[in-house]
Amino acid sequence: MLGLMQNQALSISSLIEFAARHHGEGEIVSRRVEGDIHRYTYIEAAQRSRQLAGALDALGLQMGQRVASIAWNGYRHMEMYFGVSGSGRVLHTINPRMHPEQIAWVMHHAQDQVVCFDMTFLPIVKAIHSKCPSVKHWVALCDADKLPADAGLPGLLSYEALLAQHAMAYAWPELDENTASSMCYTSGTTGNPKAALYSHRSTVLHAYAAALPDVMCLSARDSILPVVPMFHVNAWGIPYSAALTGAKLVFPGPGMDGKSIYELIEQERVTYAAGVPTIWQMLLGHMEPNGLRFSTLKRTVIGGSACPPAMITAFNDKYGVEVLHAWGMTEMSPLGTLCTLKNKHLGLSEGDKMKVRLKQGRAIFGVDMKIVNAEGKELPWDGKTYGDLLVKGSWVLREYFQGEGDAVPVLPLVDGWFPTGDVATIDADGYMQITDRSKDVIKSGGEWISSIDIENIAVAHPAVAMAACIGMKHPKWDERPIVAVVKKPGAEVSREALLQFYQGKAAKWQIPDDVVFLDTIPMGATGKMQKSKLREILKDYQLPDLR
Ligand code: AMP
Repeated sequence: MLGLMQNQALSISSLIEFAARHHGEGEIVSRRVEGDIHRYTYIEAAQRSRQLAGALDALGLQMGQRVASIAWNGYRHMEMYFGVSGSGRVLHTINPRMHPEQIAWVMHHAQDQVVCFDMTFLPIVKAIHSKCPSVKHWVALCDADKLPADAGLPGLLSYEALLAQHAMAYAWPELDENTASSMCYTSGTTGNPKAALYSHRSTVLHAYAAALPDVMCLSARDSILPVVPMFHVNAWGIPYSAALTGAKLVFPGPGMDGKSIYELIEQERVTYAAGVPTIWQMLLGHMEPNGLRFSTLKRTVIGGSACPPAMITAFNDKYGVEVLHAWGMTEMSPLGTLCTLKNKHLGLSEGDKMKVRLKQGRAIFGVDMKIVNAEGKELPWDGKTYGDLLVKGSWVLREYFQGEGDAVPVLPLVDGWFPTGDVATIDADGYMQITDRSKDVIKSGGEWISSIDIENIAVAHPAVAMAACIGMKHPKWDERPIVAVVKKPGAEVSREALLQFYQGKAAKWQIPDDVVFLDTIPMGATGKMQKSKLREILKDYQLPDLR
């Protein structure tokens, strides 16, 4: 027997319409590329999202076609979140920190039809536009009078001029809730980047879950600063959860340095902020020497890489800000776990509470997790035994997006579970802790660097026989890559010449900090490089800028 309740599809357009109707005066404040602070309300955000939807109709975009963004966190990007997805198209958020060649590759793979970009990223667009035949329209996120005359992009459109031509009223289409809404590429650790393709259903369920008290605990009384970029897993879903709760939103735009972030927190009375550890390191680095204090900030969610204990202590003890350690992945929309204490922890000493806070946290309802050994056998939740972490749930990826015309989908699931590539323990209370990554990607400043890409470039040099790239701990960037190289017999190449060889082949921040020459690189039985052994060999190594 079926239930007799209404079957209203979950939709992204309903989030912004709800915010406009019930929190119409709620503010959205953005630091803009133009240099000023822009502020408007949810009513205006909804109106402009509808205008954008009308503009996409007029440009002739079909349902499901991709509209890309190369943009900072700001109100126009937010309008794309709702206008593009709400009208049945797919928002493809592009990480501008990728190498231009990679950007062109993902645009081609996604078959993007329209690309909207902040003027900061004009040089990238200029470099790649001739390599992106699928793109019919390039749109600069600016006023018509700010369009550069010499951009070299025939038919370049102004976002503001485009919106001005369309009505603030728009009938959002009624979509199946499983309709694709947005996509985000992971950095390829084994080959090319792969895309997670989110749906209206997964996005709205994730937005509900993220707002829960033991998750992000968001409400209409909050003023939220998502420093986590809107080009990385939908800014952890915060724009959707903010609309769902009616919270004020504060967008940092291009101002990601400690001083700019601090000023925005104080000026806009931010109560809640979200970002990767590197960002908070820059913020604390600005506050400490200047003797600054927060007047409104209460909580900050930190994830993307492990949060160092010193950071939790600094926020908590010195500034009275609660740190919520979170773990997730692009393939998980991204939230998987969040670390909030249970009742039983409240009486613990500060030291013992810290042991709990350092863990990545407990699963959110909607995500199930387990750890398994190499044979796939489930391991106990004792806080000691570690194994491969697998997840499943309503906002966890089923298969990767393959692009137009590709026949074979990439099916990552193992018996219905998604292998995260992380190695973890889970304790008896359900708190998960990442102990290692099974993949060898390097996390630098909250971004991925594929060790394989770095190795591939090195071995393209005529004097290099073998190369292995590993991450080395760095106090500011978390990790920085170095590359260990074995030269071909009789061949010569210097450290400087090899680093120079990377110029133009990888983005600047992906280029290794150093080259270490070795006689051999340790190999495993199946012919794979053993990076754990390599790390042992280099255990006394220090990065050049830390010596
Ligand atoms: P991404 O898909 O780029 O968001 O990266 C996901 C990966 O980042 C995870 O599989 C983890 O390896 C890592 N990660 C995310 N959050 C944390 C965290 N809190 N602690 C340690 N590693 C994390």
